[in-house]
Amino acid sequence: APRMDLVSGPNVFASFSQQATKHGAVNLGQGFPSFAPPDFLVEAAQEAMTTPLNNQYTRPGGNPQLVQALADYYSPKFGRNLDAMTEIATSTGAQEGIWLIIMALVGEGEEVVCVEPYFDAYVKAAHLGGGTITGLPLRSTGSTGTSADFELDIPELEKTLSDKSRVLILNTPHNPTGKVFSRDELQAVADVVKKYPNLIVVADEVYEAAVFEGLTHERFATLDGMWERTISVFSAGKTFSCTGWRCGYMIGPSNLITPLQGAQGVIAFAGVTPIEVAVASAFKKAEETGYFESYAKMMEEKRDLLVNGLRDVGLEPVVPQGGYFTLCDTSASWCDPPAGSGYSSPEHETDPLWGRRDFRVAQMFTEDAKVTGIPPSASYSPHNRDPADNLLRFAHCKEDSDLTEAVRRLKEFK
Ligand code: GLN
Repeated sequence: APRMDLVSGPNVFASFSQQATKHGAVNLGQGFPSFAPPDFLVEAAQEAMTTPLNNQYTRPGGNPQLVQALADYYSPKFGRNLDAMTEIATSTGAQEGIWLIIMALVGEGEEVVCVEPYFDAYVKAAHLGGGTITGLPLRSTGSTGTSADFELDIPELEKTLSDKSRVLILNTPHNPTGKVFSRDELQAVADVVKKYPNLIVVADEVYEAAVFEGLTHERFATLDGMWERTISVFSAGKTFSCTGWRCGYMIGPSNLITPLQGAQGVIAFAGVTPIEVAVASAFKKAEETGYFESYAKMMEEKRDLLVNGLRDVGLEPVVPQGGYFTLCDTSASWCDPPAGSGYSSPEHETDPLWGRRDFRVAQMFTEDAKVTGIPPSASYSPHNRDPADNLLRFAHCKEDSDLTEAVRRLKEFK
């Protein structure tokens, strides 16, 4: 049977974005900013296209200007002199970067371990690539009401990993909980990972620029002995609010990165030249203008706006320490979708996920409250989904006016 049968369900983000448009809902679902990217980025793209050769194929593995700009920016962060040509690879969005990793490095039947809840594209890529999936749940202790409550159970990690495990995907700041892993937490993971020579860690750090409350973004690759086995994945789309540009990149040792460059050469041949040239220039401008500091502050303010609004409505939030998203509790009875309510979407017919409580709440909010969030059970493996029933994920990476309007509508609906 075609492998595509394994991943044929609808895409939860695309579906709810379409539903939001159809019903005129404020879209706090899919994780894309509704505000404009920085001017220096847009100007750099316009400028890039005026050079004729920037409209033609660039180097597979990354435009030379971009990989050099990335080497300059990240070398101090990784505490090593990064080689632009062999230790950095670009991709058409970080999501394709994950796919390149699976395609290039995971053998048929090898295991991909995903910390869950997860960005569902990991699982779909692993299925499509012929790997097997094991979910490793974060457990919530529920004591502080923040994303710090979610913890990785280290004995459970020990039980899960084996010689068959090829990839462990670890995401910080985390989608959808907002957890920011501390260095000690990452070290505890590294201590287990060390025992498996065949294991690669994929550190998904696409939300690295959105870390709040003075916390530090810690990089798994900088832990003792971990550089050799870690691929860190990033997204210019997230960092510069241009998710539609599809510009991701990966950093790691050359034996793990050059296969990704080779895979990109086969799949798309290369990235999008003017976009890569523009992002190269944006990294320089961003450092000169203090963009990263003001971006983190802006995102924290947006988080506060949404968190306070949700509290006000009675949708108790799990306060995120970083990232684009805020989970909230929908267990109140006013959030119960009426039985047999007939909320329907085309997906309803084909995917059992659409019958779950969180999906029906998301559908009701979209159709009746005109506010869209993402049901988190799509982010769990089938036997671990129950904790998601009373949760909904809202994106705070939106215009302030979208956030306040969403809260106003939820109040009115209640
Ligand atoms: N990562 C984003 C999210 O979780 C969306 C990515 C996508 O839609 N492919 O909303």
